[in-house]
Amino acid sequence: MEDIRSLEDLLDLQAVDSEIDRLVEQRGSLPILEDYRTAHQASQRLTSEISERSGRLKEIDLAEDKAEGEMRLDEEKLEREERRLYAGGLSARETEHLRNEVNMLRERTSAREDEALGLIDQRDALQVEIEELQAHQRAAAELEERLESDIQREWSRIDEQVSRLREKRNGIAPLVEPDLLELYEAIRPTKEGVAAVPLVDGVCGGCHLTLSAAERLQALKASPPRCVHCRRILASR
Ligand SMILES: [Zn+2]
Repeated sequence: MEDIRSLEDLLDLQAVDSEIDRLVEQRGSLPILEDYRTAHQASQRLTSEISERSGRLKEIDLAEDKAEGEMRLDEEKLEREERRLYAGGLSARETEHLRNEVNMLRERTSAREDEALGLIDQRDALQVEIEELQAHQRAAAELEERLESDIQREWSRIDEQVSRLREKRNGIAPLVEPDLLELYEAIRPTKEGVAAVPLVDGVCGGCHLTLSAAERLQALKASPPRCVHCRRILASR
């Protein structure tokens, strides 16, 4: 028969271990962690939207530079051709040809001007959109940071409690007989963390099943006493 004191100490140890387990579980499932994940995702999504639009802005800038470059070349050519036209001394056929050329260049220049203006409009709209997204992104990043520090605070509070409980545990564990402690440690992971339970009025504190008088007698004869149903260590109180 196990030393009763040892079994009672084991129950104390179980209480401390259950409390540690509860805190560790709480640490990993704080509701604020979900808020943080949501904020983090929003911040990341905004960052990628900004980068996608910045890429488009760069493309528009390039297209605008190209349109302006081509327009300048056409304008220079137009000036040259107009001067030739005004200088005269050309055959009727050459004049006709040059006049067509000049008209074509005028139309093309005007079309490119429209194109460049269209690109400037697109660019301005995109710029406004990017600035709005950047403001949202800053707000999201701030929220993320605030939540992060709230989580850190919550975690240190829990960690402090856990380390106090571990100290308490270190004080109790040596009071339990080594073999009993070893058995407790071995079965605890397979019993949802609860390996030592009280037997109250014949009811197992672990599986909550009743032990008949005969089962109770049989269980209490063993060393250590164990529930005939769930095999947890029984410590009567
Ligand atoms: Zn049981």
